Amino acid sequence: MPDDPSYLQPAPLPSFGLEYAAAPESTAIVSIAERYQLFIGGQWVEPRSERWFTTTNPATEEPLAEVAEAGADDVDRAVTAARGALAQWSAWSGRDRAKVLYRVARVLQERAREFAVLETIDGGKPIKESRDVDIPLAAAHFFYYAGWADKLGYAFPGRRTRPVGVAGQIIPWNFPLLMASWKLAPALATGNTVVLKPAETTPLTALLLAEVLQEAGLPDGVVNVVTGAGETGAALVAHPGIDKIAFTGSTEVGKHIQRELAGRDTRLTLELGGKAANIVFEDAAIDQAVEGVVNGIYFNQGHVCCAGSRLLVQEPVAELFLDKLKRRLDTLRVGDPLDKNTDVGAINSRAQLDKITELVAAGVAEGAEMYQPQCALPEKGWFHRPTVFTNVALSHRIAREEIFGPVLSVLTFRTAEEAVTKANNTPYGLSAGVWTEKGSRILWMADHLKAGVVWANTFNQFDPTSPFGGYKESGFGREGGRHGLEPYVELDDLVAT
Ligand code: NAP
Ligand code: MG
Repeated sequence: MPDDPSYLQPAPLPSFGLEYAAAPESTAIVSIAERYQLFIGGQWVEPRSERWFTTTNPATEEPLAEVAEAGADDVDRAVTAARGALAQWSAWSGRDRAKVLYRVARVLQERAREFAVLETIDGGKPIKESRDVDIPLAAAHFFYYAGWADKLGYAFPGRRTRPVGVAGQIIPWNFPLLMASWKLAPALATGNTVVLKPAETTPLTALLLAEVLQEAGLPDGVVNVVTGAGETGAALVAHPGIDKIAFTGSTEVGKHIQRELAGRDTRLTLELGGKAANIVFEDAAIDQAVEGVVNGIYFNQGHVCCAGSRLLVQEPVAELFLDKLKRRLDTLRVGDPLDKNTDVGAINSRAQLDKITELVAAGVAEGAEMYQPQCALPEKGWFHRPTVFTNVALSHRIAREEIFGPVLSVLTFRTAEEAVTKANNTPYGLSAGVWTEKGSRILWMADHLKAGVVWANTFNQFDPTSPFGGYKESGFGREGGRHGLEPYVELDDLVAT
């Protein structure tokens, strides 16, 4: 790197006054019912609670449908159905379970556009992400775990596997179908039965998935879907008939669940929050790193547990990097999530927008410097401009708390040791990114970063074969890969014959 990197200074962007024409995805493929009942024992049933809630399109604030709110009685009914189906399902051969899972994967592929549009309408994420990331990865998870279903003896050599039993699975709203697939596929491959609780703001794709599971020939009661809010999740955790809880959500609720389960014979895995560092060294390919940082924090409006929400950039390239980053931000298209050109869609809920707005105000009040592109936002719906904070101190709330929105906090560093100290200075430990051309430095950093996943010269890459999970307050247990089977099996020793 020469002393003066001015030859790399960006030239001003040409301005032709051209704008992208709107390219909205048609919603004709999706039909949304007025009301959704609970899916229990293979049937659609009225909630005994007699309560309903509304799910909304966050991009328009329009109500989409009424959804049943499962009370404790309903949760009990679902757990009973799952318990009733366990003996039959776990007695199926691995090959037969695999056939069903392969069918689920194929139907997800066949109905991919329908799922993508529905995911975007209910949750606000850009259609290009639900179409190219969420739905293909959801199908890939079913394919992958279908492959393990008849090979569990190879996953755990010398051991015999038994299912854990009835799993209660609670998922958040940021990747609704994908999180459901991460949880269901390994549980079903290993012969467990499930009660699934989707998030309150995004229940629709999980309910459509229930239809797909039936179409694929999953026996009644093997998967039950209880919609509702936090109370429904709490009722599931409190139910004594549950053998395992798998939870993805906030660290606060995760800690509460862990306390609830203390002293009970219920297995637990927690996938919680994060405050990941994306670390750019001076020898990094700067333009690629800018793209990686943008993808790391503005993908899915920053509603990503492993989002690269803290940028650590090495001092010699900090100014250049921030110049390029801001220019790139100016070109992000914020708006209608159904528009195929949209990069940043709607914030998932009014409550989440309020939380982001409050933390951004705290950043300004604490003395950090804010940059936002002056793009126009839609008049209706919940939107937030992509935001960068510079002059951030480690003590600032925006450097410590998970914002879960399109907000990046920038810090600088001089040496690799300092970068590691700053990156690890957080209660979280879910992910990190390292940008450098030196392989040895990547390995050294990966060794020293306390994070479940360390991406090198890339970010936010997911694959069903690769385990994912946290350190410290980001939780415990792994999802994905062979590791993702472990939470769902009891292992017995094989007696040598
Ligand atoms: P959340 O409030 O913890 O909610 C997660 C799920 O738990 C939702 O289904 C929620 O229901 C339910 N819930 C709420 N209170 C509960 C209780 N007392 N007992 C049982 N269940 C309860 O989190 P969120 O705001 O939806 O999601 C954002 C968080 O998830 C972020 O912190 C993010 O980092 C984390 N996350 C982590 C990962 C990971 O893999 N580590 C992945 C994605 C997200 P309602 O939505 O209906 O209230
Ligand atoms: Mg919604």
